[in-house]
Amino acid sequence: MSRPRLSSYGRVMRLILVGPPGTGKGTQAKLLSKRLGLTHIGTGDILREAVRLDSPLGQMARPYVDQGRLVPDDLVNELVADRFRRNDRPDRFVMDGYPRTLAQAASFEKVLEDQDLNLTAVILIVTDDGEIVRRLTGRWCCPKCKTTYHVLSNPPRRAGYCDDDNIPLIQRVDDQETTVRERLRLYHETTRDMVQHFRRRGLLYEVPGLGDIETIYRNIVAILNQAK
Ligand code: AMP
Repeated sequence: MSRPRLSSYGRVMRLILVGPPGTGKGTQAKLLSKRLGLTHIGTGDILREAVRLDSPLGQMARPYVDQGRLVPDDLVNELVADRFRRNDRPDRFVMDGYPRTLAQAASFEKVLEDQDLNLTAVILIVTDDGEIVRRLTGRWCCPKCKTTYHVLSNPPRRAGYCDDDNIPLIQRVDDQETTVRERLRLYHETTRDMVQHFRRRGLLYEVPGLGDIETIYRNIVAILNQAK
């Protein structure tokens, strides 16, 4: 199948991608980056890497990242502002996981204004919470060989047991329903005002997050073709 093209391919795109956990937001950000030549700025990736390297930023962020809580606005605002104040600042980009709150959005807009950069669109990936719970809680793994299965897309031959070790599969805390529901609650609570803010500014475009990776990508590109 031919790859969807932007009618104005090569046009300067400055995008923010917003979506709940479990919608493949990071994957879409990487595709947009690769195919449209945008710099991908994923705050989750940057923070996880900082934690891994145990840098000063990583040391401050670790307690939050490890517990899946939001890193304080000031810290993440400064991290992003710093990227945009450098001489090699990105001119066209896709933000993945930032801004996440109204306060972050305000800080980011100020940074962009100072740099004379305007936003093209904020893409909101919309998915039903029940669907996300079904997707994320379907993942099970073998405690011995660590193979992961998914009850919908990659089920074991015998339900609940590892194909190779024949022992009961377990579910990581991250994939348990209470954890997933709590992450979704937090997502809605923290992004609500920000989404409203971008909607009022006429920058928000909603994209259905159902289907495979290429379908969602095509939905995004179709929406971008309409963006002013
Ligand atoms: P993610 O991969 O986007 O889910 O991010 C992983 C973790 O990084 C989150 O659970 C937060 O602890 C932290 N994080 C990433 N982006 C932000 C942000 N914009 N604001 C606060 N914390 C963030």
